Amino acid sequence: MKSSRFLNKNYWIDIIIPNCCPCCGKLLRWDQMFCEKCREGLDSLAKRRGKEYPPPANTDGCIWLYRYDEPAKGGIMTLKNGVGKKFAIYSAQSIADKLGELDFSPDLITAVPMLKIKAWARGWNQAELIARKLGKAAGIKCDFSILKQHFSRQHQHSLNAKERAEFVGDLYSLRRKHTDVKGKNILICDDVITTGSTISKCAELLRSIGADHVAAVSICRTEIK
Ligand SMILES: [Zn+2]
Repeated sequence: MKSSRFLNKNYWIDIIIPNCCPCCGKLLRWDQMFCEKCREGLDSLAKRRGKEYPPPANTDGCIWLYRYDEPAKGGIMTLKNGVGKKFAIYSAQSIADKLGELDFSPDLITAVPMLKIKAWARGWNQAELIARKLGKAAGIKCDFSILKQHFSRQHQHSLNAKERAEFVGDLYSLRRKHTDVKGKNILICDDVITTGSTISKCAELLRSIGADHVAAVSICRTEIK
């Protein structure tokens, strides 16, 4: 029997909260994920994502979905603003579908940490949100008790790749009471990978406590020139 739209909870949710495209905000039909223009744009970014880019240092692999440009940039922005959770759910499922590309089977997912005060002010850490959705999609346990970020007045965006690598060296560390990851294969999740120095530092820390394999996963990766 053909299922009725009246049996789909999204149909009823749409009556209360209108369904919008997570990348551009355009109003959509209740059962659409993206508008036509953003769907085509994302397909194009996926094809031009730079598959040949090397994984960040200290990692055994890297999976990302899109080159960091519009309309994916818009999707990341809504995710940071807390209204793009369905973009996280959709992207997490797409990342889960690609996990077979790795040379190992992941045991644990963690995320690039965010300062507690920043996560509190924002309401969430978007990297953690993607990680949770990925954990659910792939059936892998999440653990956010391993890494932490320290406070700094310096903004990373104003630094070049070399300065950024030096800067993140002091920005992340292990939590005092962290989970034992000896012999485990770990995924580090982020929303966007730029120079890769943050992921490299996190991977280095995970390896220092015995992680066997470490790979990075993200929705976007910036172009490597
Ligand atoms: Zn759109």
